[in-house]
Amino acid sequence: MITAGAWRGRRYAVLGLARSGAATVCALVAAGARVVAWDADGARRSQYLPGTGRGTDGAAVGGGAAASDGPAGLPLHQPAAGPPPRSGEVIVAPLDDLTGFDALVVSPGVPLNTHPVAARARAASVAVIGDIELFAQARADLPAHKVVGITGTNGKSTTTALIHHILQTAGVPSLMGGNIGLPIFAADPLPEGGVYVLELSSYQIDLTQTLDCDVAVLLNISPDHLDRYDGIDGYAASKARLFAMQSPEHDAVIGIGDDHSAKIARGLSARAEHLTKIAPGVCMDQRAWPALQGPHNAQNALAAIAVARALGILEADIDRGLETFAGLPHRMEHVATVNGVAYVDDSKATNPESTAPALAAFDRVHWIVGGKPKSDDLDACAPAFGHVVCAYTIGEAGPRFAEILAPQMPVERVGTLAAAVASAARQAKPGDIVLLSPACASFDQFRDYEERGAAFRAAVEALA
Ligand code: ADP
Repeated sequence: MITAGAWRGRRYAVLGLARSGAATVCALVAAGARVVAWDADGARRSQYLPGTGRGTDGAAVGGGAAASDGPAGLPLHQPAAGPPPRSGEVIVAPLDDLTGFDALVVSPGVPLNTHPVAARARAASVAVIGDIELFAQARADLPAHKVVGITGTNGKSTTTALIHHILQTAGVPSLMGGNIGLPIFAADPLPEGGVYVLELSSYQIDLTQTLDCDVAVLLNISPDHLDRYDGIDGYAASKARLFAMQSPEHDAVIGIGDDHSAKIARGLSARAEHLTKIAPGVCMDQRAWPALQGPHNAQNALAAIAVARALGILEADIDRGLETFAGLPHRMEHVATVNGVAYVDDSKATNPESTAPALAAFDRVHWIVGGKPKSDDLDACAPAFGHVVCAYTIGEAGPRFAEILAPQMPVERVGTLAAAVASAARQAKPGDIVLLSPACASFDQFRDYEERGAAFRAAVEALA
């Protein structure tokens, strides 16, 4: 387990006990910190965590990692009237008063611009941090290692997974964390020479103050998450902090295809050879990289190559990594070919900017689009409208998108994903692509983009 000696005896409040929050509690407790934790969800509050020191009757049953009395550990549960926590114990209580805490640890999903806990932390002058900041604090206790941080509106997961894959191909111990893979505190420390590859959303960067990445990557910035930021400038400022936290001699890799990213790159020109700028529209031969098709993946690949070079990986290993990368589910994933028609799941494309490159990657597209809209227009996709044979509109955004698209292309207002697949299958000719790339969030009709992608696959498999 990754822990820091510096946490011993300190007091932490932890809000949010899903996967990363629960792993964070275990790491803090193992280090001998005093932890008070809370989650609005009662089931999460009474889950079993190994190494936490309280029983359901409120009696102390031990402290620290040694407290586990079975493989499942002990439940996180504490009646209101219980005794105060001892060092190495965790107590479950609402975080009404944060006076005296060393930090409040929140999961990135907590909307700090509106959540009352933010005001309580301010009132008590308590720093609000996330698990990545705790990881930054734990670095001094880890075997010698490097950290790569990847941010951007689109392409983070693909680029993170690709860098991890190139490192593995080169025989370098590496671990993916942050927004992808296991929570960082659910992982064991890497041996000496390892590389932690962290996918960082802007929310995670907001909760991080001291992460000095050996290589920091910004892929792009387009309007997103504006419910949590004061306009796109505030969102861009959040991304820029990844570089502000770095030592100036460390490497920066920045895609300069949009104004905000280009401005951040200009601000780092003093880094000289430690700054790699990735221009848009670079033509590359991607034929040997089956899982990295399309112009957006050219950008992602260039970013990964720059990172690998900064880490001293051999060119031959980089080439092998690009060639053998398998891609991630729901990102332009080839699901099946039925009657000569290829079905592609790009359910992860939740805004028009991420859908645009998917449309551009194919010639004759039957485009399934719509869901919970993040924007009122599809302007970012317009340059690729000529590739669309027919659009099938679904979900909450369906009527609006149909109105926008109808003057430009044939449109079917189908409403649901299943109806879209059925109709596209009737119309598509051999060689055509049926593409789910919705340019919208999924929450109007599905739990998340993964469930939406699974529903697409099920509908396609039903055709075969
Ligand atoms: P993230 O983790 O940032 O959401 P992903 O790698 O999961 O990014 O890709 C999400 C979607 O964004 C994919 O469906 C893909 O079509 C699109 N995408 C991937 N890389 C880029 C990029 N560099 N620029 C624009 N869109 C991209």
